[in-house]
Amino acid sequence: MIAVLKSGTSQKQLDNLTSWLKAQGLDVHISVGNEHTVVGLIGDTSRIDEELLGSLDIVDSVKRISEPFKSANRKFHPDDSIIKVGNTSVGGDTFAIIAGPCSVESEEQVMQIARSVKASGATMLRGGAFKPRTSPYDFQGLKADGIEILLEAKKETGLPIVTEIMNANHLPLFEDVDVIQVGARNMQNFELLKELGKTNKTILLKRGLANTLKEFLMSAEYIMAGGNENIILCERGIRTFETYTRNTLDLSAVPMLKELTHLPIIIDPSHATGVARLVKPMAMAAATCGADGLMIEVHNDPKNALCDGAQSLTPEAFDDVARAVSRILAAIKEL
Ligand code: PEP
Ligand code: MN
Repeated sequence: MIAVLKSGTSQKQLDNLTSWLKAQGLDVHISVGNEHTVVGLIGDTSRIDEELLGSLDIVDSVKRISEPFKSANRKFHPDDSIIKVGNTSVGGDTFAIIAGPCSVESEEQVMQIARSVKASGATMLRGGAFKPRTSPYDFQGLKADGIEILLEAKKETGLPIVTEIMNANHLPLFEDVDVIQVGARNMQNFELLKELGKTNKTILLKRGLANTLKEFLMSAEYIMAGGNENIILCERGIRTFETYTRNTLDLSAVPMLKELTHLPIIIDPSHATGVARLVKPMAMAAATCGADGLMIEVHNDPKNALCDGAQSLTPEAFDDVARAVSRILAAIKEL
């Protein structure tokens, strides 16, 4: 349920309303927007007398929210959420470009890639230290050493770093990590999501291989229900019957999620297609349909990459994509 407040409501009146609602066992979420202040009620709202709430002097209107996701719902928070990450942000006017290798392989590899993607305009550096591989015999990542290497690259380039967590017990290793990624395979690892909800870290939540948008938003809701609202959504393709591409990029998810949620949404065209030459057209399409950013795999030597070489761009190809995307964004601004 939401109560939209009349303009001119004082802080004291808002505080009184909040305590009254909390006294009835509800969690209260306040969003002060450009136009209105919206008070979102979470919990068993059946005990709330809708008419009584609506009749209060400061209340303009009351609406029940039928969707199961509440905190993530745009009705709770009409303005776009802007997620601050170090000296940059995701959402609003900033178009985020997260680039780097699928997995951290060595210090030299990460440094080289970090310098080049930064020069091409990347706003953050990615790299997997803990890798969720389909085969237990494949490279599993450098783990804690991988995170150390990313932190070195952050120190040198100033780029915030993004890396995946697979187990909540590893959280202490992520203390200096700017953005913790929850990979597609863990989108519904609810225990992990609950632990991340207790932190104040920014979470990059990837859509599961075969999950609906409602399930995707419910996973974001798990993190938000714990009090952590710093979430970036990432569409990375879903599994369909198509085999020429690794997954099928669901670009319609972008405008649909923009309606449903205030959280920013970025596109990962690398995992969505699995094919390096398809990354540029899909990145351009993502910029066109309103995505808040991109996450792209870049490797200094894709042919010899330990993971996802076929979809990784060379630094030169990434530079070309970044230029194309920035021209598209400039053109869109003119529309
Ligand atoms: C990744 O980003 O390297 C990754 C494993 O992605 P996903 O979880 O989307 O497969
Ligand atoms: Mn990968």
